[in-house]
Amino acid sequence: MPIELETIIGLEVHAQMSTKTKMFCSCDNDAFGKAPNTTVCPICMGHPGTLPVPNEEAINKAIMASLAIKCEIGEQNHFDRKHYFYPDLPAGFQISQYDFPLAERGTVTYDQTDSSGKIIATKVCKITRLHMENDAGKLMHRGTTSLVDYNRAGTPLMEIVTEPDLRNAEEAVAFVQELRRILIAVNASEADMFKGMMRFDASISLREVGTEKLNPRSEIKNLNSYKSLERALKYEERRLRKLWDKDGGPPPNDITVGWVDDEEKTKMLRNKETADDYRYFPEPDIPPLRFSKEEVSAFAKELPTLPREQREEYLKLGIDEKQAMQLIDQPKLRVIFDSVYKKTNDAKRTSSIVLTQLLGFLNSEEKNIEQAPEANMILELLECIDSGTISANAGKEVLGKMVQTGKTPKEIIKDEGMQQISDDSAIEELVQKAIEANPKAIESFKSGKEAALGAIVGWVMKESKGQANPAKVNEILRNKL
Ligand code: ZN
Ligand code: MN
Repeated sequence: MPIELETIIGLEVHAQMSTKTKMFCSCDNDAFGKAPNTTVCPICMGHPGTLPVPNEEAINKAIMASLAIKCEIGEQNHFDRKHYFYPDLPAGFQISQYDFPLAERGTVTYDQTDSSGKIIATKVCKITRLHMENDAGKLMHRGTTSLVDYNRAGTPLMEIVTEPDLRNAEEAVAFVQELRRILIAVNASEADMFKGMMRFDASISLREVGTEKLNPRSEIKNLNSYKSLERALKYEERRLRKLWDKDGGPPPNDITVGWVDDEEKTKMLRNKETADDYRYFPEPDIPPLRFSKEEVSAFAKELPTLPREQREEYLKLGIDEKQAMQLIDQPKLRVIFDSVYKKTNDAKRTSSIVLTQLLGFLNSEEKNIEQAPEANMILELLECIDSGTISANAGKEVLGKMVQTGKTPKEIIKDEGMQQISDDSAIEELVQKAIEANPKAIESFKSGKEAALGAIVGWVMKESKGQANPAKVNEILRNKL
């Protein structure tokens, strides 16, 4: 009988923290799009004699992330030096955490959904640890020359390590998607995949079903999209199965491989290094960090609603599964939705303005959510509608122009002369004119035909080019008759 094999996957996720400054110096942490080597200083360049100062904002964000993935915060933890030699690492060591990490023993519950967003399975992946460290710079290879940009050197990272609880590539992807949502929800990372703010190393091995032992694994380094994570795992799984068929068992030792996107295959890099290779020792320039139970529970009180509960709340508002996922996966869309809902307390109206109108206009302008008007501009538009400055219909037109031009609602209303006439004396004048111009309609209204009033209101609306406030017109007209 052929033996049955199962796939064992564990992940290491590096997420860049969304802080103002770098992990150990005051350099700008937002180097995206900036000229190479312009957001650097002697500290993040590893000059001798400089002293690192831990970034409090980064530590606070890492604590929030740790609590959101249900980890215990280490009462005492410290930084360690991890030594390796590479041109993108100016100090010759990374400041990381080794034996006393910030947080340990957590769990992430994640859902697997079908294409309509319906949950088909709910699973749990245990978290081994979360620790803080600084990032290295970036190497660029041009022909025979290599260039290095240190802007990224010193960027604060969280490294999140899972237990080998994942059983296939689909689970791995569903897990990292949920982890990303959580990191965004607690504002610890923007986790923008396009900007490389979230990167994965995946370990994969096979074992016979029914056995518990972990066999030598392949570690696939530096995957930076869901697609490459999924494809690399599937490729390596097939390779390991073939190897097992040939050799009758697992490979003899751990290896480190790279994923080559263009060739759709993994490539052997080296035998896997062990902790001994890094010569870890406690960072002598940074005192240990201590967190009391009281401090930790103060952080826990600040935890926001997490994505899976948030999704439930959206569903309860009557929003469908696909839209709920859209809101959770697009932080800016969610900020807009939440602030409109907070203001209107009307899910149907919010959904119509944000998910139908706004997304529709963005779509037809071929713009993405990042190019959408800010939430406070949408609120300004709502105010214009609710105060009667413009009608709801005109509001839709204004929103379209906001998306198109980036102007504020008030600018658009003014420029296009869209203000509704709500001024009593102006409307009275119009109503008086309407009464004089429509003697027949007035007659039939007076003889009891309610519907005739509509014709007179219609006349006023036409005369004012749609800008008279219809409710006001109605009120004044009734008073006069
Ligand atoms: Zn610096
Ligand atoms: Mn790391």
